[in-house]
Amino acid sequence: MRMTPSYTSLRQVQADLRAGITTCEAIVSQYLTQIEASRGLNIYIEVFAEEALEKARVLDARFRESPDAIGRLFGMVLSLKDVICYEGHSATAGSRILTGFRSPYSATAVERLLAEDVIIIGRVNCDEFAMGSTNETSCYGPTRNAADETRIPGGSSGASAVAVQAGTCLASLGSDTGGSVRQPAAFCGVVGMKPTYGRISRHGLIAYGSSFDQIGTLTNSVEDAALLLEIMAGKDEYDSTVSTQEVPAYSQQLNFGRKAKIAYFSAALEHPSLAPDVKAACDGLIVRLRADGHEVEAVDFEYLDYIIPAYYVLTTAEASSNLSRYDGVRYGHRSAEARTLDELYRKSRTEGFGAEVQRRIVLGTFVLSAGYYDAYYGKAQRVRRLIHDRTMEILKTHDFILLPAAPGGPWKLGEKIDDPVAVYLADIFTVQANMVGIPAICVPVGTHADGMPLGIQFMAGKFCESDLLAFAQTL
Ligand code: GLN
Repeated sequence: MRMTPSYTSLRQVQADLRAGITTCEAIVSQYLTQIEASRGLNIYIEVFAEEALEKARVLDARFRESPDAIGRLFGMVLSLKDVICYEGHSATAGSRILTGFRSPYSATAVERLLAEDVIIIGRVNCDEFAMGSTNETSCYGPTRNAADETRIPGGSSGASAVAVQAGTCLASLGSDTGGSVRQPAAFCGVVGMKPTYGRISRHGLIAYGSSFDQIGTLTNSVEDAALLLEIMAGKDEYDSTVSTQEVPAYSQQLNFGRKAKIAYFSAALEHPSLAPDVKAACDGLIVRLRADGHEVEAVDFEYLDYIIPAYYVLTTAEASSNLSRYDGVRYGHRSAEARTLDELYRKSRTEGFGAEVQRRIVLGTFVLSAGYYDAYYGKAQRVRRLIHDRTMEILKTHDFILLPAAPGGPWKLGEKIDDPVAVYLADIFTVQANMVGIPAICVPVGTHADGMPLGIQFMAGKFCESDLLAFAQTL
């Protein structure tokens, strides 16, 4: 089912609102209709229909009274990945273990968007605790790609990507620990932006791998990504890892008025896992960029094949520690079967966590265990440092690094469900940005041989979002 969203940027929405051609209420109603029409895709876990309509009416009234007293996100209808807290609403990370949890506070990012009059229309599906690349590990069942319902949308923010792709909201917030915003963006033909680590507060984002996690956006346009980032970013007393660096007015700096110097890795474009149509798309884009006067050159990057093993050691280690708080006592699911405290922990966690999350907790606990710590966790940290240093060295002399978003296109639902390692390996091109902590954006550039959307990714230096967004806009 292919559906065309009527608006592709907030600028169009606001132009119509100001011209009196539409109202927030009409826009929300239209999205609600689209949500109903796309039920089969399993995008939304919960729709805040009444609440969104009510807020729309309040905003319409406020706008009629004093058009200048309206927030910068007037008319922006947003959905939230189920890992982002919104006061008074459920957040379950696609997991049975958080059944019944209602968040007593909103994520800092959400609070800032609300302060600018965003309308939140619902909570969307994702892989359990954002662990996955297909949306199939959710306890709510898989979300389907709107371009072909037999295919995965990618993950873990797959439903956020489909929510935008299927025209059920203008934008969606996702989270990106190893590519969860960018890979689904590539698979669904939307723009996926992951900022620098520490650009947006992680307060209120349910933790997976704390030294990797960042909130990111899925949008139809680069300008909406820029505006949302500009509003969400910046210092926050609730997250000690967030940067205090000044936040530029990204949305006002979308003119890339110069020629860029871009690197690509021969090792990536010649990687055995890379599908010929993705290689052709990258080659084609390189030709186009050169024709536009940008300098594009191959550079050596010798660590490509070490990225995935190091990432999965480090993130499972962090996850095993982060997820120890779900014990049947403090939040969510508590086993009814347990008779002793030990049984309570064991049964609640066994019943509450799905297979993929259990696999990662076991793996992470193992790599952290005494006797193995140095061989696995310590070594992976040293690999992370090498990857970091080499990437930063390349970015000293280049504005951007061009990479495929994924080695191939979206596969069939269920196709790789019994082969977790194959799914892990398909993250090869997205995890580098998280290992290093740099921003990266995925933009749609065409289609695969089978007609599915195809996206390509650019990474930039730390806190170089302005350049990255402006450059992406030229594409
Ligand atoms: N697919 C990766 C993983 O499973 C990335 C997930 C993410 O970015 N949240 O870890």
